[in-house]
Amino acid sequence: MTDDKTMNQQNAQHKVLITGGAGFLGAHLCRRMLNEGHQVVCLDNYFTGSPDNVADLAGRNGFTLVKHDIVEPLPAGLDPTHIYNLACPASPVHYQRDPVQTLRTCVMGSFHLLELARQCNARILQASTSEVYGNPKVHPQHESYHGYVNPVGLRSCYDEGKRCAETLFADYSRMHGVQVKIARIFNTYGPGMSADDGRVISNLITQALRGRPLTIYGDGNQTRSFCYVDDLIDGLVRLMDSVDTFMGPVNLGNTSEIAVIEVAQRILELTGQDQELQFIPLPPDDPAVRCPDTTIARSHLDWSPTVPLEEGLQRTIAYFSALADQGRAHCATLR
Ligand code: NAD
Ligand code: UDP
Repeated sequence: MTDDKTMNQQNAQHKVLITGGAGFLGAHLCRRMLNEGHQVVCLDNYFTGSPDNVADLAGRNGFTLVKHDIVEPLPAGLDPTHIYNLACPASPVHYQRDPVQTLRTCVMGSFHLLELARQCNARILQASTSEVYGNPKVHPQHESYHGYVNPVGLRSCYDEGKRCAETLFADYSRMHGVQVKIARIFNTYGPGMSADDGRVISNLITQALRGRPLTIYGDGNQTRSFCYVDDLIDGLVRLMDSVDTFMGPVNLGNTSEIAVIEVAQRILELTGQDQELQFIPLPPDDPAVRCPDTTIARSHLDWSPTVPLEEGLQRTIAYFSALADQGRAHCATLR
């Protein structure tokens, strides 16, 4: 049962700092926090995100947008009660664009935010990733599995950066008593992804809608488990609000595993298209399988995803179709 003190804490207005807030997940989280009546500082360097992603929030009470790179010391006066650290490119195409910057973001950025949390006595949540399991030899992946990661490959800047960030978070909890929370996020998709994000769902949907061949890396038999964005955001908020003694790490993802080639076929069916598949060599270290064990999320957060892939894909296709219509309307006005 929830006592009065806990209720008051849950209803109190928080000052929430969301780094990477102008990215895909960050913009959804900014919206959710504002709708719950909290103050939100959205801090981003626009490496992959954009102010356009939070343009609808610009005039709202309690919303502040700050352009800043978390690799650099943080601006004074932020004074948050809660910090969600989402800053980091998440698509392989983008995190490999400047791998050293990716590592600096994961490690130095986390260090700056943990220091801020320590000084302000704020709670801090780290957006970690299923990539900490690398190309897993244990399937599905439970949090107790320590992974199989190449330290010198093309994906290492992200995988090892996120692993090191987890270590920093755990050590700040042990050394300084900072209230930390670690979420291991599995592939998440939905409206708000950018068309040039480079991840599989946005690629395949935009290709289908543009009448282009759908690019399949390798033979397409590699699997992923796709979580709809609203479900994921709900998991992050539950983790942030979880009891002080619970740090995680906790897997947040959907347990329905599917081969990439099957995702392509579903997208063709749902868009009513019939393009060919274009097979491209598989990038090195691309994980062969990935599926979360979500026992801990269920038991500690009472969380499991509710949106089935079919429904999530329909909503995402509707989002990209509307974007394409806007683009066409814009071009027509320029003629
Ligand atoms: P995204 O690329 O859309 O958003 C990342 C945001 O961080 C962007 O707005 C980018 O400009 C910003 N950013 C990058 N480096 C920064 C820096 N040094 N300083 C300030 N801002 C910076 O990606 P996303 O899908 O929204 O992912 C958000 C977070 O969740 C990332 O940390 C990612 O690693 C993690 N995650 C996402 C997924 C997923 O499937 N979406 C899966 C696992 C983990
Ligand atoms: N992939 C694909 N076609 C694309 C983009 C990605 O077949 O246009 C594959 C990729 O090789 C990987 C899976 O889809 O096996 C998921 O890729 P994504 O970049 O979305 O995320 P990852 O889980 O690899 O970080």
